[in-house]
Amino acid sequence: MKISDFKKKQLRDGFQNVSELRQDLVSGDWMIVATGRAKRPDLFIKREKEKFEQPISECPFEDPQVTGHGEPLLIYYKNDKRRRLKGIKKLVREWSLQVVKNKYPYLGPGDCSKVYKEGPYTLMDGAGFNEVIITRDHKQHLALMSLNKVEEVIKSYQERYLALMNHKCVNYVFIFHNHGLKAGASIPHPHSQIIALPVIPADVRRSIRGAKEYHDRHRRCVHCKMLEWEKEEKRCVFQNEHFIVFTPFVPRVNFELRIYPREHQSNFEKITEIERKYLAEALWQALFRLCRGLKNPSYNFFIHTAPCDGKDYGYYHWHIEILPKTATWGGIELGTGVEVLLVKPEDVAKYLRKIKIK
Ligand SMILES: [Zn+2]
Ligand SMILES: [Zn+2]
Repeated sequence: MKISDFKKKQLRDGFQNVSELRQDLVSGDWMIVATGRAKRPDLFIKREKEKFEQPISECPFEDPQVTGHGEPLLIYYKNDKRRRLKGIKKLVREWSLQVVKNKYPYLGPGDCSKVYKEGPYTLMDGAGFNEVIITRDHKQHLALMSLNKVEEVIKSYQERYLALMNHKCVNYVFIFHNHGLKAGASIPHPHSQIIALPVIPADVRRSIRGAKEYHDRHRRCVHCKMLEWEKEEKRCVFQNEHFIVFTPFVPRVNFELRIYPREHQSNFEKITEIERKYLAEALWQALFRLCRGLKNPSYNFFIHTAPCDGKDYGYYHWHIEILPKTATWGGIELGTGVEVLLVKPEDVAKYLRKIKIK
């Protein structure tokens, strides 16, 4: 296979292993091959046994610039403080959140991907953007933050989304958060990630296709239909003026939670400042109840929103999915794509509703 210009540039820039996107011949799903992230196969064995803690002195996110993450792409400061430094009172600016490039990116930096063929297969250069959103406190994960801090995190998601979505070769911006070793976090210091991709990821594509098919048949949004029911139902965990948190009727995993804007809205990035405050409350409520209820489980959450490829996705309803890791996936889960539920979503909602809020 001929080496593409993108690969040549990546190798010149010092990337040992270049990311690639490969399309499955049967499903049409695109997968990322990012071998640059895992250096040795034995890392897979060791991690399960390690305790998921890291002393502050070894944490790469305490001072991201010192650890080579480059200048922040976005930075928020705490209130400016006057501090005494060597006897002189100086204004010290302490950051409270910053966004940097991922040092071990899923996708290599690059402009546009080229599609090419290898036998019957289609593949693409793994060109895109991968950023890390780091909050200041080493141990304070989202469920322990104040509402203002959670809102700041959401604001950074929105700002970076808006910055990345207009890149001419970005067709999807995916925002996600891994909490805990079992959820795939590689660094315990709380952080989220943003990936800007040239393709629409498989699960998002399925979610959009399902919403479109329902819309074509019934001329209305499938999620709005669900929400109409869930706001009154026994699966609702929390709701405020603009958002609702509930356990879906058909969860993919035990204790799955979803957060939806109550009014139909296709694009996450269009939320207003007021809505952002309500979303912060809904997200915090969901995570706090989950962390209390399951004693700080590992979990992932991500935003499913309309792609930014210029097409009309008015029928789509953006939302957040929160998936706690309460089981290890075996053959049945991997082969069918669903977890065997050991608890009913109605019981999960009842249990989480009862959790006392501090
Ligand atoms: Zn840290
Ligand atoms: Zn809707």
